[in-house]
Amino acid sequence: SLVHEYRIRTRCGDYLWVLVRGVVEDCRRSGRRMAGSQTDISSRKAAEGRLRHAARHDSLTGLANRLHLDELLHAAQQRTSNRESALLFVDLDRFKLINDSLGHGVGDLVLMEVAKRLARCVRPGDHLARFGGDEFVALLGDLACTADAERVAQRMLDALRQPLQLGERTLSLSASIGIAPLWLDGRPLDALQAADLALYRAKNAGKDQFSLYFDDLRGSAQRRLDLESALSQAVARDEYVLHYQPICRLENGRPYLVGVEALLRWQHDGQLIGPQEFIPILEESREIVRVGEWVLREACHQVRCWQLLGQTQLYCSVNLSIRQLQQPDFTDRLIAILDETGLAPSRLVLEITETLLMQHSDTVMATLQQIADLGVRLALDDFGTGYCSLGYLKRFPLHLLKVDRSFIAGVPEDADAAVISRAIIGLGQSLGLEVIAEGVERPEHMQFLIDAGCRYAQGYGFSRPKAAADLQRSFSAEGCFEELWCLLPDHAANVRRIGVCTPSGSRTA
Ligand code: C2E
Ligand code: MG
Ligand code: MG
Repeated sequence: SLVHEYRIRTRCGDYLWVLVRGVVEDCRRSGRRMAGSQTDISSRKAAEGRLRHAARHDSLTGLANRLHLDELLHAAQQRTSNRESALLFVDLDRFKLINDSLGHGVGDLVLMEVAKRLARCVRPGDHLARFGGDEFVALLGDLACTADAERVAQRMLDALRQPLQLGERTLSLSASIGIAPLWLDGRPLDALQAADLALYRAKNAGKDQFSLYFDDLRGSAQRRLDLESALSQAVARDEYVLHYQPICRLENGRPYLVGVEALLRWQHDGQLIGPQEFIPILEESREIVRVGEWVLREACHQVRCWQLLGQTQLYCSVNLSIRQLQQPDFTDRLIAILDETGLAPSRLVLEITETLLMQHSDTVMATLQQIADLGVRLALDDFGTGYCSLGYLKRFPLHLLKVDRSFIAGVPEDADAAVISRAIIGLGQSLGLEVIAEGVERPEHMQFLIDAGCRYAQGYGFSRPKAAADLQRSFSAEGCFEELWCLLPDHAANVRRIGVCTPSGSRTA
């Protein structure tokens, strides 16, 4: 029998697909013959073609999809050529913000425009794929050298930066790009993974730029993975500690201790690691929820101990992550911690950042309101470094505003910093918020704040963050603390009487 599909070119040059089926028959009269049929299967073939195309292309942008990219990449790595090839991993910066604020419809329009702009940057013969979400991959062949790939990446960055007009709205876009060769030292490389590592580096270096893959990147990714797994065991191993930094009230030119901010540290491999290094990792893995709860409990407990030792009005300030606020039972857990530790809600301040409010949802808003209803105060941390939206100051139940240390660092010499700092202080006060200046290091900073009418300050000039026991030693010093600041009146004597208290409850004379 015979079954065969083939195409025929028609007189006008088109193709017609046909299916031929036949069987051989023995025929008494003429010997053997083939009997069968020939069917026009062009429409079925066209439908199959459309399905094959759909399976390999992205429906929104029409670009190759991940499956097709794999095939193209595989084919490219099979070919031997003395020309270079490279893979570019492109990821839009802050695309989530566009999607969340302007809706998915606008997000789709942006992605289509991005696809068009990127396609104009590559040559015929190169391939462009949508990897997923806001990620695109370009496969460049026939390059004279790797610098050619950098030129294409730069062209892409420039093309994306051009303002994008969508109706009445003008958007500005940027992207980060990771570049990796398809071959390294004569061997094929896992180019997707390598370009992704380079992309991660470009993002970390501040976005809106490209970065090249180099061999040690894999090593640093491995180190990050090691760090992640070490971090996941840090709670169980008791490796976290809190340091406390005093917050002072400036009165009659003298600073008095009113509160402490709890700042997380990680004791790992004999080193004390600062939060900037590991909090982003904890946030990514959501481990921050567990660690944040530990911080809250430990800090409330410690401050309650210090209150019992005589710092009766001392308040405790704790930094929160958005992930914690997204927990539907956050308020219940907070109430439980306050009950457990005996700290009054009015003696707790929770610090949140503007970026956190930017991503606000109804859950977060409701939780913030519940927290405020409890009598716990909310502080907007690092004000001035984010979007400085005055809308937030009114919309959210905030009580305190912390002016970022980058402004204070410039005063009084830098006229701009001075004007902005004064404006933020005035703004906070006119909205009925307490304003705290961060990063007060020099006596001139303090004088500036007193002149500007700012009543609260925090910074190395008063004290660096210290372990609980070290800070407590300062409490018990005679009247005056080191350098500029003093203890709230008449508490020093109490401390000497009661002794040293730690959160675990042990006391030493
Ligand atoms: P932040 O909340 O703005 O904390 C103030 C940071 O400024 C601290 O850095 C502190 O050591 C530093 N600082 C204070 N005074 C001065 C000064 O006079 N000069 C200078 N140059 N720096 C000063 P640190 O401890 O490295 O913390 C960095 C950030 O990590 C914090 O910024 C906070 O956003 C975050 N963080 C710390 N602990 C936690 C935590 O338990 N949970 C969460 N979610 N974030 C935390
Ligand atoms: Mg803070
Ligand atoms: Mg801050």
